[in-house]
Amino acid sequence: MKLKKCKSCGAYTLKDVCPSCGGQTISPRPPKFSPLDPYGKYRRMLKKQAGEA
Ligand SMILES: [Zn+2]
Repeated sequence: MKLKKCKSCGAYTLKDVCPSCGGQTISPRPPKFSPLDPYGKYRRMLKKQAGEA
């Protein structure tokens, strides 16, 4: 069983296509924190807010 992560909304799923937004999913292999991803911080903030909403 391989958990994948949506590139668009960050949702976790086992499918190749995100059931939430229809975005492409990837295997969450890359590091969670990357200096090459300056917007990752904001995406996580948005994700957290969305989860609490
Ligand atoms: Zn998604």
